[in-house]
Amino acid sequence: SLPPQTGTTAQAAAATRPPTTNGSTPTTSVLHANLNSPPPKIVSASGNYLTTSTGTQIFDATGGAAVSCLGHAHPRVKQAIVDQLDTVEYTYSPFFTTDASERLAERLTKSTNGEMSKVFIVSSGTEAIEAALKLARQYFVEKGEPERTRFIAREQSYHGNTLGSLSVGGHKARRKVYEPLLSENVSFVSPPYPYRGMKEGESEEEYVQRLGQELEGEFQRVGPRNVCAFVAETMSGLTLGAVPPPKNYLQTIKHICDKHGALLILDEVMSGMGRTGTLHAWSQDSVTPHLQTVAKGLGAGYQPIGALLVHRHVVDVLSHGTGSFVHSQTYQGHPVACAAACAVQKVVEEEGLMQNVRELGPVLGKALQKRLGGHANVGEVRGRGFMWGIELVQDKPSKTPFPASKKLAATIHATGLREEFGISLLPGGGVADGTNGDVVMLAPAYNITREDVELIVERTAKVVERALGA
Ligand code: PMP
Repeated sequence: SLPPQTGTTAQAAAATRPPTTNGSTPTTSVLHANLNSPPPKIVSASGNYLTTSTGTQIFDATGGAAVSCLGHAHPRVKQAIVDQLDTVEYTYSPFFTTDASERLAERLTKSTNGEMSKVFIVSSGTEAIEAALKLARQYFVEKGEPERTRFIAREQSYHGNTLGSLSVGGHKARRKVYEPLLSENVSFVSPPYPYRGMKEGESEEEYVQRLGQELEGEFQRVGPRNVCAFVAETMSGLTLGAVPPPKNYLQTIKHICDKHGALLILDEVMSGMGRTGTLHAWSQDSVTPHLQTVAKGLGAGYQPIGALLVHRHVVDVLSHGTGSFVHSQTYQGHPVACAAACAVQKVVEEEGLMQNVRELGPVLGKALQKRLGGHANVGEVRGRGFMWGIELVQDKPSKTPFPASKKLAATIHATGLREEFGISLLPGGGVADGTNGDVVMLAPAYNITREDVELIVERTAKVVERALGA
């Protein structure tokens, strides 16, 4: 996916891009984020480095949008793809299954000790969320509770760009154009966001209690027996910019969902598959969702793939009901994508990469804090594992964001791509809503070294300082 300020990122990048040798603007038939100007062209990629057509070497500190968790051109994943092509490149999943999809699903269910007992394999995070919303609805129809048609989601959230997934997304700028087409069966509560959400003098415990009361209040407002599911990112990604859940937050929301018999859908498209230091981000808070989506780190960008993990209690209802999910896609369980994801997951496990994330994550966070935390425009450095955000503000004491017209996050991204800096940073934050500041996000590959951490921090700091005019 593209960061929130998609258009502005592209415009800012275009503004800093050198013209072609004959002085003309490059033309393109691809419908890019900026219709009239393509982003830099990548001609090769290896390890953590991308090479552009003009020869610039860029350290990929974000794996695109938190995707390339093994870096680029990993030989074991490439080989697994070739081997699968030699076996069978495609089958239609209602007709046939394959070893590749069976192995991947088994690996995922085992990783939850069988709590999540079935896996629906799709091609993206958006499709996984779409499937989750539909499965939640079908579950209640089969259970004899057809009145459950409502979803509760969180403000400033992002769950994908199809009309269904966008309906449960609380990012105003992304919704605006499509609003008349989005489902009206969705309402929103505040996300956990201590930097701006916590009141002065309030403890973390009181803050979480207050968020719980707000969710409980929303259940009561719409009628608890009308709620199908609560949808939340386990750790907020792009729109808030790497905000981990406060202590007991996940337990609190799970308890409320259980009390009212609604499902909890945890979106781990960005935060799952090792990004926060454990395969499933929910396991750090001992909360198991009813439905869970994963994508980015699952296939690490080697193939487009996402998945919906379904709790055994949900599976039981469906198997004793119609026995089928009224939803399917032609490329579901694509063998090559599954083979690539299996290989990615084997590398993560066999090379001890989650251990590396757990060890170097705090090192990265501390170094960012040390280098940038004192800057007059750095409001907060926050994160977990290999998912970090630096929130930038115009005025630190009042936490006033920069005006959207400054396009700061987009400018930072474009500045990083310049040859003298050579780093790809992920612009995030909800500045277009005016509800939080611009955020620079880092989401490096799980196999980076301490030297890479130093390089990332140094280059990021230089880019941020340049963009802020320091
Ligand atoms: N949910 C979350 C939390 C995401 O970060 C994203 C992608 N940025 C999506 C859903 C949508 O995934 P995709 O772009 O693969 O469709």
